[in-house]
Amino acid sequence: MNDALILVVEDEDKIASVICEYLQAAGARTHRIANGLEVLPWLRKNSPSLVLLDLMLPGCDGLTVCRELRKESSVPVIMLTARREEQDRLTGFDLGVDDYICKPFSAKEVVARVVALLRRAQGEVKSPKSDALILDRNTYRVSAKGKTVALTALEFEMLHVLMGAPGRIFSRDEIMNRVYNDFRIVNDRTIDSHVKKLRRKLDSLSLEEKPLRSVYGVGYKYEM
Ligand code: CA
Repeated sequence: MNDALILVVEDEDKIASVICEYLQAAGARTHRIANGLEVLPWLRKNSPSLVLLDLMLPGCDGLTVCRELRKESSVPVIMLTARREEQDRLTGFDLGVDDYICKPFSAKEVVARVVALLRRAQGEVKSPKSDALILDRNTYRVSAKGKTVALTALEFEMLHVLMGAPGRIFSRDEIMNRVYNDFRIVNDRTIDSHVKKLRRKLDSLSLEEKPLRSVYGVGYKYEM
């Protein structure tokens, strides 16, 4: 991992030790914090490549930490959660969490997800394809390989949000909030029906892959 600095925020000593050990074995440097209140002060003085953030922490819980952190930093964040905290999972996506790992997890899995997210953050996951989508905000049109299709303003904004962070999963709430300034959307099902229409339009561009993926129980992501 080329000397990347990973901040591990976890109050359970055993878990934190194992994670740090595996990350170091993979070539990363690590720093450990056990109390939620110590995260922001440390982040103001250091620039880690990624933060592993436990949800249940003494001092200040992981969701609050993440919300505060996002006001100052765009550092990639992976949240560590317990399985029963499904609701927190969804809420977390609205706070700028990039990925989730549910407990119990293996240290190997954590390292794999860290490596994947670092690659994504550094934009080296895939080279741009020949059928990359091109958005034209002036006309609300999207084109690829010489073909063009007209979108509604809402479809355009949704696609713009998803394309802004390829591979990142957006919950329906988050998509709704991002386009809310201009459009009133009533509920989750409305998002689903707009995505459905958007997908149908993108199909007409005859792309090699379908760029809008749904992630069961969580939301949508753009990936090409
Ligand atoms: Ca904990």
